[in-house]
Amino acid sequence: MPAVAAPDTVTCRGERFQLYLDEDTIQARILELGQQIEADYAELGPPILIGVLNGAFMFTADLMRAIPGDCEVDFYKLSSYGDAKTSSGQVTELKDVDAKLEGRHVIVVEDIVDTGLSMRYVLDQIATRNPASLRAATLLRKPDAAKVDVEVDYVGFDIDNLFVIGYGLDYGQLARNLRAIYVLEEEG
Ligand code: 5GP
Repeated sequence: MPAVAAPDTVTCRGERFQLYLDEDTIQARILELGQQIEADYAELGPPILIGVLNGAFMFTADLMRAIPGDCEVDFYKLSSYGDAKTSSGQVTELKDVDAKLEGRHVIVVEDIVDTGLSMRYVLDQIATRNPASLRAATLLRKPDAAKVDVEVDYVGFDIDNLFVIGYGLDYGQLARNLRAIYVLEEEG
């Protein structure tokens, strides 16, 4: 499929956003993460990536394609932000993982770790299923927004405490289809 160039600014729900991380930068970093995962799991055996829906669907797909060796995928669905730009602090499970995780090498894949509550919740849930190992990956992390301690093994980019959209991240369910990541113009 021919690539559609990502514009420098976009308007979503009447607000202007400017380019924050372009497609090449995102994809180059994902390739590095894929190679790191490939090396880390060479001895252990194939990992299973658990993408956290909806936001992480795009990152999960690209991360999986950046891992040359065997790996599996499944999804866990949490409630989303709704229309707000700030974390509700409420995490609700909407869909559990189908795969059996006991004895598996699990990597939980998030789009963004903001307060860390969602990642903490999913890691705690999956830990109860006795995986052989459990790690976390996120494309973006906002270290200044952390409310809970959560160790993330694979981080794409640490970013400032800004509201970002695109590449799976929504604003009231829109903007997930953007190929790059954008920040609210007034914040950037
Ligand atoms: P946390 O539980 O770490 O506060 O946030 C988890 C979820 O909030 C993410 O998976 C994502 O869906 C949403 N979120 C956090 N920060 C942002 C942001 O800057 N932009 C968007 N669109 N969603 C965010």
